[in-house]
Amino acid sequence: MTPHETLEYFKKRESEMIDAIREIVEIESPSYDVERSKTVVRWIENEARKAGLDLDIERVAAEDFGEHLVIRAFPGDAKPYLLLGHSDTVHPVGANEQNPTRIEGDKFYGCGIFDMKSGIVLMLEALRYFAETGQRPSRPITIFLSCDEEVGSYSGRPVLEKEAANAEACLVFEPSAAGRVKTGRKGTGMYVVKAIGVPAHAGLDPEKGASAILELSRQIERLNSFNDLEAGTTVNVCTARGGTTTNVIPEHAECTVDVRFSSMAEAARMDAAIKALRPFDERVSVTVLGDVNRPPMERTDAVVALYEKARAVAASFDYDLGETQVGGASDGNFVGALGVPVLDGLGITGDGAHTLHEHILVSDIANRAALITKLVSG
Ligand SMILES: [Zn+2]
Repeated sequence: MTPHETLEYFKKRESEMIDAIREIVEIESPSYDVERSKTVVRWIENEARKAGLDLDIERVAAEDFGEHLVIRAFPGDAKPYLLLGHSDTVHPVGANEQNPTRIEGDKFYGCGIFDMKSGIVLMLEALRYFAETGQRPSRPITIFLSCDEEVGSYSGRPVLEKEAANAEACLVFEPSAAGRVKTGRKGTGMYVVKAIGVPAHAGLDPEKGASAILELSRQIERLNSFNDLEAGTTVNVCTARGGTTTNVIPEHAECTVDVRFSSMAEAARMDAAIKALRPFDERVSVTVLGDVNRPPMERTDAVVALYEKARAVAASFDYDLGETQVGGASDGNFVGALGVPVLDGLGITGDGAHTLHEHILVSDIANRAALITKLVSG
C-alpha cells in the first residue's frame, strides 16, 4: 500500500476506531484500582486477539495497581519496536459524569482519552492493519502498557526496562503537544523536606521555642536559589504545611519539592544539593526524603534520526509532524536512559490531559494511525 492508500484505509475505519476509543474510555481505570485495571487490560487483550494474529500476551500482576500488559507480535530475530503506553488514568471513578465521553464538532471528549487511551487504540489498529492487509512490520513488535504510570511507575519500571533493553527503538503514545512529537523530556526528582523544631508558648516563653515553620521558610528560599533556567533545572516547592494552632511556636513543618532537569549531571548536582540541606537554626532538625524519580530523556542524535524518519513518513501522505521538548516526564524517560532512541508524544492531537476538558481531535485519528503503521513498516 502507498502511504496515501494506508491513510485512506484508516479514514474508512474511522467510525470503528471511534467506537473502540469510546469503549476503552468508558472503562474508568484510575491508578491503584486493581479490579478496574484488570477490566481494562482484559478489554485490550480481547481487542488485540480480534485481529487474528499469533500473539504472545503476558499479564504481569502488579500488587496494589492491577496488571501490566505485554503483547508480542511478529516474532523474529531482529530487535523489536517497543510501543509504549499506560492503561491507568488520573481520573477518579465518576469523573466521566463531569466530562462525558462525547463528540462535539471535531472534539472527542473523555476522561483519559488524550492521556492516553486513544493511543492504545492506535497500537491495536496497527496490529489489525497488518493482519487484514497481510503486510508485515519491518521488525517484531512489542507493546507494553503499565498500570501505574500516572503515579511514578514504581511497579512498571522493572518490567518495562526488561522489555526495552533489547528494543531497536521505542515509540511512546503519550499525548502530543498540539500534534508535535516529543524528542526530549526533562527528568524529575521528588523530595520532602521536614523540619522539627522546639515547641513553646508563643506568649509566655517564646524564647524557649525554635520554629519549624521559620526554619522551613528559610530552606524554601534556599531551594528556590537552586533554580538554573539556563541549565534547564527548575526547583519548585509545591506544597507546604506546618504548625498546630495559634499560640504555639510550631514544632513540625514540611514541604514537597518538585525538581526538573535536562541532564543526569544536573540531576546528580541537584540531588546532592538538596540532600545537603542543613538547618539555619541549630535547634531545629532538617531531614530530606526522596530521590531522582525519572532520568531525563535526552535529545540524542539517534532520537533526532528517529524523528526525521517519522517526519518523512508523515510527509509521504502530506502530514506535517513537528517536534518539541517538554518539562513533563513519562515512561519514555526510563527507556531513553537505557540508550534506546525514544520518540514520544505519538498520540492523537488533543488537549486537556489530566483535566475535565480532556479531548482529542477526530480529524487526526486516521493521520496518527497511518503514521504509526508506516513508521514500523520501514
Ligand atoms: Zn500519560
